[in-house]
Amino acid sequence: MKLIILDRDGVINFDSAQYIKSPEEWKPIPGSLEAIARLKQNGYRVVVATNQSGIGRGLFDMDTLNRIHKKMHKAAFELGGRIDAIFYCPHAADSKCECRKPKPGMFKRIAETLNADLNGVATIGDSLRDLQAGAAAGCRPMLVLTGKGEKTRDEGDLPEGTLIFANLAAAVDHLLSRETKEKK
Ligand SMILES: [Mg+2]
Ligand SMILES: [Zn+2]
Repeated sequence: MKLIILDRDGVINFDSAQYIKSPEEWKPIPGSLEAIARLKQNGYRVVVATNQSGIGRGLFDMDTLNRIHKKMHKAAFELGGRIDAIFYCPHAADSKCECRKPKPGMFKRIAETLNADLNGVATIGDSLRDLQAGAAAGCRPMLVLTGKGEKTRDEGDLPEGTLIFANLAAAVDHLLSRETKEKK
């Protein structure tokens, strides 16, 4: 099974310091949904792993998160893409849960749920904690410079082997072109 694990805010959609609290605030980064469609066309299962501490902080509720994700699913679908599953951590930053990135709990749950080996699976994020969680689970970390990505790059300390791309579209292009080369 070909699998890729994406962060949501700052990778698929524009991030906001005020949190994405409504479907109206969820706006895709240009090219990101098309990139998800290319992944699907190339046989990838696309899974999202996202920290959503706004729930734990009472800024929005589960019903709202579900409506935001419904909008994201629909937007991907309309461009020929598919998001196979969304895993989220609803807990506040101080909750000491096992699922909030940089902890690898969500990645472990993805591996269990999909019965997948995460070793070498590409994971794409814009924050250090996305890359750390993925690396801890055996994934190959890829940083995009959208969202908090430039700040993350400038602060450094990235997990070993982290590749850096302008945005999700460029990261996916790299992944798929590498695959074509490996097939030859
Ligand atoms: Mg992010
Ligand atoms: Zn959590």
